Amino acid sequence: MQRGEAELHFDTRIDGPDGLRDLRVVHRFEYGADGRARFTMTTTQDITELKTTQRDLHDLAFRDTLTGLINRAGFQARLREQPVSSVLMLDLDHFKNVNDTLGHATGDRLLVAAAQRLLRCLRERDTVARLGGDEFAVLTHNALERETLERIARRIVEALSQPYEIDGQQVFVSASIGIATVGEGQTLSEPELLMRQADTALFEAKARGLARHEFHSESLSERARERLALEADLRRAIAEGQFEIHYQPKVGLDDAHIVGAEALLRWKHPERGMVPPDRFIPVAEDCGLIVPIGTWVLQQACAAAAAWNRERPPGEPLRIAINLSPRQFMNHDLVQTVRDALDASACRPEWIELEITERLLLDERNQAEDILNGLRALGLTLAIDDFGTGYSALGYLTRYPIGTLKIDKSFMRDITTRPDRAGIVRAIILMGHSLKLGLVAEGVETEEQAAFLREQGCELAQGWLYGRPMPPQAFGEHVAAQREPVVPLSAAPLQAA
Ligand code: C2E
Ligand code: MG
Ligand code: MG
Repeated sequence: MQRGEAELHFDTRIDGPDGLRDLRVVHRFEYGADGRARFTMTTTQDITELKTTQRDLHDLAFRDTLTGLINRAGFQARLREQPVSSVLMLDLDHFKNVNDTLGHATGDRLLVAAAQRLLRCLRERDTVARLGGDEFAVLTHNALERETLERIARRIVEALSQPYEIDGQQVFVSASIGIATVGEGQTLSEPELLMRQADTALFEAKARGLARHEFHSESLSERARERLALEADLRRAIAEGQFEIHYQPKVGLDDAHIVGAEALLRWKHPERGMVPPDRFIPVAEDCGLIVPIGTWVLQQACAAAAAWNRERPPGEPLRIAINLSPRQFMNHDLVQTVRDALDASACRPEWIELEITERLLLDERNQAEDILNGLRALGLTLAIDDFGTGYSALGYLTRYPIGTLKIDKSFMRDITTRPDRAGIVRAIILMGHSLKLGLVAEGVETEEQAAFLREQGCELAQGWLYGRPMPPQAFGEHVAAQREPVVPLSAAPLQAA
């Protein structure tokens, strides 16, 4: 047996007369030839400074300086140590607004307050992190039952949505949460997967209306993948010219004469075929691509409106309606874009109507009022699309420069069979008239529906009864055909005499 030395040390913290000190206690041993260890001495070292430096370095790497919570790297490290648990991803709704309108100092104070509230909703052994911006994450110390997680999530949403008192003013935000959890008997090969899944669920919670929580599920992942693929394809679609605009006639209900058309976007995908706008426009809105796409639609539709109107006798203009998404009103000079589109094709403003949704008018964030006044000042008219499906906050009808209401097509379906539906449409028409607004009924498919609308005094309609959306050339021909004197079918000779 060899002779030798060994030492055993442990670090400890004591609360001494000069405050907290870190000490290292070292016990030394010697081995004799007989292999037995003999204790030789114990020393004590003050390692407070070393420890402080180590902690500082650790904090620098793993802690968020603003809130004192651990940061993303810290969270990921924790997740690797403790993979069998549940992750909650949390994001403050409309936080960017607070920063933009009240300044970053207020935003920072709100984040600190939110972090404190979050901590109060959880147990000490749970890990709470700020991942960056207004994004927080929680790792529960063990995998919890769905009901428990649900309760925690509700408690957090509730706590974080209470008004914040900052510098004597009340600030309102809410929180949305996505939850992912490892099922029983399941192990995660990759801990970060849990974060990604919670993130997908968070995205879904936001999409379904804020201030709520959502659990991750396989179908969500599938949808998220699908969405990403669609987004990538959309980027390519602009560059590769896969978009088209179809025009659906808008007619006078009295004798079905064409007064204009609505420009409806179509996407001819090389593999998927025609992708309907309801599928891709929400995606384009989420990723911001709706702004360049919308600008393209404006340019094309203005050029088409100008071309058709140049060939018409004065006094019978065709008005082309263009849909605008709320996103086009944010961070972007929409009035200038519209003015440029008009100028580029010498399109007169009275040939264009812009369709907006109620959603836009109720969201105070996008300063719609100034922009709408600016658009109105250009000489265009503004219509509210899908009227009646939104929030019935009717005050905005007099506040904004609206000229037309488009009665949503969902009312048309049973207008002739359900008295309540008919009643709503009648009320909208009455209200429109008393506010001196134009009225367009959407989705008119049958002669009975048209008759009802005519009877109620609705002036204009759009729907399959009068024509489906069609490519520009077909629409041009459709208009031209209507202006030719029509030979009634019954007058055509059936056979040569
Ligand atoms: P919207 O603006 O309310 O357009 C009317 C929708 O009703 C169109 O659907 C049209 O094809 C459909 N429709 C017309 N007549 C009838 C009918 O008689 N019966 C039925 N069942 N449906 C009828 P589409 O073309 O699929 O467009 C869907 C939505 O996509 C539009 O609703 C609009 O909100 C949006 N959209 C379309 N083009 C654009 C665009 O260029 N920009 C933006 N931001 N949104 C657009
Ligand atoms: Mg529309
Ligand atoms: Mg509509």
